[in-house]
Amino acid sequence: MAVADVETNTPTPAKVNLLGLPEAKLVAFFESMGEKRFRAAQVLKWIHQLGVDDFDEMTNISKALRDKLKQQCEIVAPEVLQQLDSVDGTRKFLIRVTGGSVVETVFIPEGERGTLCVSSQVGCSLDCSFCATGKQGFNRDLTAAEIIGQVWIAAKSFGQLTAGGPRKVTNVVMMGMGEPLMNFDNVVDSMNLMMHDNAYGISKRRVTLSTSGVVPQLDRLGEFTDACLAISLHAPNDALRNELVPINRKYPIAMLLDSAKRYIDGLPDTHRKITIEYTLIDHVNDRPEHARELAELLRDVPVKINLIPFNPFNLSNYKRVSNNALRRFQDILMQEGFITTVRTTRGDDIDAACGQLAGTVNDLTKRSERYRANFVKDEPVTIISQ
Ligand code: SAH
Ligand code: SF4
Repeated sequence: MAVADVETNTPTPAKVNLLGLPEAKLVAFFESMGEKRFRAAQVLKWIHQLGVDDFDEMTNISKALRDKLKQQCEIVAPEVLQQLDSVDGTRKFLIRVTGGSVVETVFIPEGERGTLCVSSQVGCSLDCSFCATGKQGFNRDLTAAEIIGQVWIAAKSFGQLTAGGPRKVTNVVMMGMGEPLMNFDNVVDSMNLMMHDNAYGISKRRVTLSTSGVVPQLDRLGEFTDACLAISLHAPNDALRNELVPINRKYPIAMLLDSAKRYIDGLPDTHRKITIEYTLIDHVNDRPEHARELAELLRDVPVKINLIPFNPFNLSNYKRVSNNALRRFQDILMQEGFITTVRTTRGDDIDAACGQLAGTVNDLTKRSERYRANFVKDEPVTIISQ
């Protein structure tokens, strides 16, 4: 957006938000200013390792360059509307992005590990039948600054971005609101920052992109990243998956698994496995024959399976899988030789569970208007109009 200069009445260009620029783009930016490349590494460290958003604090940069940067750039993270802390250590952030919409970010501690569940879009267009985010429809893609900004905010909240601060965010999963592959460029730029040594330096084995199966984008992913991959499968055959994950009608299971295999095969290190996410819904996809069919389907695919008990929300008639059905399902897969884990629900008291992330989305679709009354009712924050 251009702003008119009062004196000359000529538009002044909007400032560049450096928060969302990965190193290659930051290098290009400095070169375009006639500056040295190494400035990019310096600025990356200030922003992402020391949490600095004020150019005057960047003491290894000359005053003249700092002044130039202040004129042309900014470092702006989205605003934290609310931080909710669960008794089990889970921390949820309600984050307001430009335009007034709210997205959610969840930090889940587990021993030495701290996993941050990051959102990639406001709402989601893919409308999986069991997902609260999907029920809101799609509003917009998050910018790279808004995606990496969630990591910046969480890390800062734990004092991680101070010299010698604790390394609390050890893992990131792109499993918050939205479908990451529908916001390809911004997600790739952000994941690049998460893994870059001059930024967060998280290992490629600890950053995971989760997708419901946007095959054309998955086919391109390997050119841009070597992060881990999770596939939201949820059904062992196309008939059932078509009902649960509508994008399956366009890109059926065989096509999706082939693309996922190509991604994993293309990674330089061997022994990487695809994580298969399978949300278990009572009397929908939780029968022993589903487990056996799943084992057959995945026989020759390098996978580990993560079972997620369905998390109910007020707009859904589905029910959580029973403990018996869950155990039986897991046993069958394990007997078939698959590494099979069950995701435990954390942060119950702050509604931080997988698939319940709803924010207070101001989306513009008709569908969302139908649903909004219900969403607003239970929300801890007031809806903000655009
Ligand atoms: N769009 C991506 C990532 C966000 S969803 C994807 O679909 O993979 C993250 C995970 O939460 C997915 O595996 C999704 O299927 C799961 N999920 C969504 N709603 C859920 C619910 N109500 N209960 C349990 N898991 C859910
Ligand atoms: Fe979108 Fe993922 Fe939810 Fe499906 S499960 S509607 S792809 S966020």
